[in-house]
Amino acid sequence: SKSSLQGYAPICLGLEDFYVRRLYLRIQDCFNRPISSSPDAWFDLVERISNDNNKTLKRTTKVKRCLNLGSYNYLGFAAADEYCTPRAIETLKNFAPSSCSTRVDGGTTTLHVELEKCVANFLGKEAAIVFGMGYATNSAILPVLMGKGRLIISDSLNHNSIVNGARGSGATIRVFQHNTPSHLEKVLREQIAEGQPRTHRPWKKIMVVVEGIYSMEGELCQLPEIAYVYLDEAHSIGAVGKTGRGVCELLGVDTADVDIMMGTFTKSFGSCGGYIAGSKELIQYLKYTCPAHLYATSISPPAAEQIISSIKVVNGEDGSSRGAQKLAKIRENSNFFRSELQKMGFEVLGDNDSPVMPIMLYNPAKIPAFSRECLKRNVAVVTVAFPATPLLLARARICISAAHSREDLVKALEVISEVGDMVGIKYFPAEPEKQ
Ligand code: PMP
Repeated sequence: SKSSLQGYAPICLGLEDFYVRRLYLRIQDCFNRPISSSPDAWFDLVERISNDNNKTLKRTTKVKRCLNLGSYNYLGFAAADEYCTPRAIETLKNFAPSSCSTRVDGGTTTLHVELEKCVANFLGKEAAIVFGMGYATNSAILPVLMGKGRLIISDSLNHNSIVNGARGSGATIRVFQHNTPSHLEKVLREQIAEGQPRTHRPWKKIMVVVEGIYSMEGELCQLPEIAYVYLDEAHSIGAVGKTGRGVCELLGVDTADVDIMMGTFTKSFGSCGGYIAGSKELIQYLKYTCPAHLYATSISPPAAEQIISSIKVVNGEDGSSRGAQKLAKIRENSNFFRSELQKMGFEVLGDNDSPVMPIMLYNPAKIPAFSRECLKRNVAVVTVAFPATPLLLARARICISAAHSREDLVKALEVISEVGDMVGIKYFPAEPEKQ
């Protein structure tokens, strides 16, 4: 869409070879950094992997212990957990790492059946279907549900997996301005021949696709103002809402109003894979038609057990109050960190309660300075830029976890403040006090 920020991206494409690729070559060390531990509040970042005379690759010769501000480990389940880990290990022994089979041909274990029931119950939907990859859940489901003669209306900042799924479906795609329900309404009205009976309308089906929390912006979607949606809750399920049910719970939307609920297990549940939850008919249809269900190996059993166990902890079914404590902690940590960053004068995107906090750098040349200076001080941050964002809207994306202690957050704030001064990204400095 020309009117959206994403519209800048194609303009930049012509420059990519000369400038973007050259820049990325010079700042390679800021991306793809290997780690050699679980993605907990602190993790081991590999500084150098030595190649032992090219014979054997010696791993982790030099490791740096860093405060981890980049992981999607929102509830802290992606580390040894007293309830989940022993169960995942037991499952590994009993079921092996992989089912080595597709869901339809012997890859459906009892755990897959239990997981699908567990996800549907958690979301208050009739049924659910799970996949081995969150990305593939979007990119494989949209082509099954949509096609020629159908219309997808997509938020301009939707994730790449949605964009690819929408494109692959062959449906007509219209993009509405990011998180702007009035523009969505305008696009919808343009597409529906008003006053015509339903059968005369130009589209067989219209689907609106939005995210619960936008992954590069940290903003909550304007859910209460739209209906008939495909909702991607990759970053919001487990992470927000009083009982971790995501944006519907947080924003007071009845899940019955969301037709297709999508999410991933790779963030709050510390595992891998994705799900779709909806009506019995929808899930049954997907089980007979979706190629990612029919032709892909099913989700790894230990990963399935990890999800079941972590949902039980969130629900308090493990007999403890750890789930409720984690949910309270992530909210408290996120709101504390966001307000402190704002007080320091940073431009922070996103909404309250969202654990995703982009700090605007703007100029991509600020990426290496910000990233390297933080790392020198043992704080690992994720920086994102073109093509994930428009060229001139580079940012550091902080992800806050329930695993972070108050001391961790205070240390991170001290470091970010010091580096922010060096790099010159406190765009809203506090007004000097009047004498
Ligand atoms: N949807 C959104 C909004 C995402 O941010 C991501 C990845 N971060 C995905 C889908 C893909 O999920 P996964 O990484 O679990 O494959």
